[in-house]
Amino acid sequence: MNCREIQEKIALFEELDEKERKLVLEHIKVCEECRRFYREEKKLRETLRMVRVERKLRVRRVAITAFAVMATLLTLLLTFKPHKAQFHELIISEQKNAVVKVLINGR
Ligand SMILES: [Zn+2]
Repeated sequence: MNCREIQEKIALFEELDEKERKLVLEHIKVCEECRRFYREEKKLRETLRMVRVERKLRVRRVAITAFAVMATLLTLLLTFKPHKAQFHELIISEQKNAVVKVLINGR
């Protein structure tokens, strides 16, 4: 197998079976050029993996923030009680309005 073929295999290293990987690894032991190519490919794969992990973490952070905002809003909603006096006033003014309406309309 020549260097060009080996380098094609290196580019697909993740998809190679055990036998093919062994072949590549044996070759790069004795071939400087392919060894360099192998290292560069490996570095590239690691960079790509880190980018993917970083992207996944970013999505997770957004989800957590959205959840925290929702939880806060829900807590506020559940613990919110209008001031008793204000509530009382509101009812009284509603009753006054009803009485005024009855007086005006005669019903
Ligand atoms: Zn080679």
